[in-house]
Amino acid sequence: MRMPALFIGHGSPMNIFLEGPYAADLREQAESMPRPAAILVISAHWTTPQLRVTASAAPRQLYDFIGFPEEFYKFTYETPGDPILAGRIASLLETAGKPCTQDPTRGIDHAAWAILSHMYPEADIPVLELSLSYHLPPLEWFDIGKALSPLREEGILIIGSGNLVHNLYEFDYEMNVQPYPWAVAFNTLVKEKLAKKDKTALAAYAETVPESKQAVPTPDHYLPLLAAAGTMESMESAVVFHESFQNGSIAMTSFIFA
Ligand code: ZN
Repeated sequence: MRMPALFIGHGSPMNIFLEGPYAADLREQAESMPRPAAILVISAHWTTPQLRVTASAAPRQLYDFIGFPEEFYKFTYETPGDPILAGRIASLLETAGKPCTQDPTRGIDHAAWAILSHMYPEADIPVLELSLSYHLPPLEWFDIGKALSPLREEGILIIGSGNLVHNLYEFDYEMNVQPYPWAVAFNTLVKEKLAKKDKTALAAYAETVPESKQAVPTPDHYLPLLAAAGTMESMESAVVFHESFQNGSIAMTSFIFA
């Protein structure tokens, strides 16, 4: 059976310990899908000059955030990796003209484990991460998704992990504050364009959407959405399985592509 692909808004690390509709939706989404053979996360928190994929059999858990209470740094979610799958991913990307280096030392950051700890609390499924190459223009992230799409036939769960609205300059420490109007507007626009599979509009956000200046001040949390959407075949569609805003400037909107 073809595995769905997901885009998940991960928000701040506070979500690691938060129980509520967001955590419940992640859990429910995981329970509604077949158990993955492995999970590949395209991470907002790993930017590199060229594409890289984690290739350790036992990747370290990275606590890639600062200033949180001690309990956050004691929370463990240690999964196996899968070096053979890393090789397969590198070869699929290479064939598509997107060279990718296998990285046997890099660990797994919170873009992966903060969400997976809700979805698969047993931590017994191999997890790999793909980096964001900052040389690739937005439109090419759809091609990355397309190149990875055959993995879905093999039971691999592909997850883009970021946030389609993510502005830390306007971040409000009150998590449940009303979202900014530009955050709501940009979130609505992206949902519309995804429903129409309008790749050009989704990739050209910076030139065509005024709200993107505030909604996407840097592309790192947005691009994983394009990669996950790129795995869709013509009969498939994007469906929202969670929608909320946190801290005024972060959209937690999450999609299943199936
Ligand atoms: Zn993040």
